[in-house]
Amino acid sequence: MGTGKGAETTAVDDERWGILRANRSPALWRQVEDGMQSMNGSDMWSREKLAGYDPEKLRNAILALDGAGAACNNIAFNLCLSGVRELRVVDFDTVEVSNLTRSYFFKKERLAEGKKRYKAREVAIGALTLSYAEDPIVRYAVARVEALGLGALLGAKVVVSAVDSFGSRAWLAKATRLLRIPMIEVGFTASQAHLSVYPNKAEDEPCWRCAHPNAEPEGISCTAYARAVVEQGMSPATQTVAATVGALAAEACIQALHGEFPLGGKLLVLDIRTGKSTTINLTADPECANGHRSLARIDDLDVSADEPLRRVFEVTGAEMSSPIAHLPFPFVIEAPCVNCGARIPIMQPAYAVREAPCCKQCPGSPPKAPAPLNSVSLVAADSRLATTRLKKLGLGPSAIFDVEDGVSGEIRTFRLAGTTDDIYTTLRRKERRVSDAAPDASSPADASAAEADAALDAVIEADEHDLPCF
Ligand SMILES: [Zn+2]
Ligand SMILES: [Zn+2]
Repeated sequence: MGTGKGAETTAVDDERWGILRANRSPALWRQVEDGMQSMNGSDMWSREKLAGYDPEKLRNAILALDGAGAACNNIAFNLCLSGVRELRVVDFDTVEVSNLTRSYFFKKERLAEGKKRYKAREVAIGALTLSYAEDPIVRYAVARVEALGLGALLGAKVVVSAVDSFGSRAWLAKATRLLRIPMIEVGFTASQAHLSVYPNKAEDEPCWRCAHPNAEPEGISCTAYARAVVEQGMSPATQTVAATVGALAAEACIQALHGEFPLGGKLLVLDIRTGKSTTINLTADPECANGHRSLARIDDLDVSADEPLRRVFEVTGAEMSSPIAHLPFPFVIEAPCVNCGARIPIMQPAYAVREAPCCKQCPGSPPKAPAPLNSVSLVAADSRLATTRLKKLGLGPSAIFDVEDGVSGEIRTFRLAGTTDDIYTTLRRKERRVSDAAPDASSPADASAAEADAALDAVIEADEHDLPCF
């Protein structure tokens, strides 16, 4: 489930500052650093204050960015310069060469080393290096956001939905509504940028899914069988439109941090070539599949994700009769082969099953009546699944889920044990050595850019071997 790396202090910043030192006159660079140290906040942020920003709000901000592609790179870039303190970046994907031209934090040299570079991690490293926050914190997870669960969003003041998958967007729309966290959604294609803002304050507000009723948060479903698997085609994309999206979204985030939603409940579409823009008022769908529920109360459970579901029943059983756990995603026990219809055991949460499965002996075996898609969402204490570990059922550290009283029907919401550090890998700066004398030849500060980068990798290298597969 979570990466569970725990907090980690890295030398990332030192190494990058080292690059800068190596490339400039050390004396001059120290002057800049000393100057920054002596500056009080009002000097550095004087122009932003005139524009109405309250640096204090940015200093305490926690933002979750879901999807670490071009939009995220450009949003994070703006937020880092604006002094946002904590960013959480989630993406399961790796960097490809065609991403470089729209993504400031993806580096050609690092890709050229031939190693897998995870988008979320590259953004995290770049953001930590660039940030003007006093003590920036950048967390990342190589995962699908729905696999992390609601706990991954707890504490965030704004969530940005910049993820490719419609399923993940649908999940984020629901998750942010449940937790009442404002959501900013962005995307672009060709010369057109779009942004929509959901304050998530009231039940009757529209959510993203009101306008996208066909987007389903689940992975596998009947539609997975109905639709042929289409290769993802290439869509037109340029840095100019990504930069526009980045600026629009970052400003919407900053406004949200100030409690302002000038674009709340609206969709803005802007064509950067023609200058044409349209603002549409979104309307709430009373039949919205998201249900627009928000969680009034979440009780902490002293049960870890490594324990079996049975423990949840033991702990809640004292106050609830015949408790029934509602899994956040259906747990798929078996599914029919897409070709011959034979039963294939799956034993994974639905979000992890992206395509209809196909059995090995398929070619040559005659088609049969397809087996049913067998999945379970409600689990009672006498179920076979009660002995399954919570993690395996899709309930990771800090997961939030409902338990129903089997007699009264009352539903309560619980959170498993676990912290943000169990969900994300956390990067922080080492204390900067401002008082250093002239750079010493043996220190990383003097290393060439390539050496510094290698050092940077070595620092975080240890994480990668046990990255979970979602
Ligand atoms: Zn809705
Ligand atoms: Zn088959």
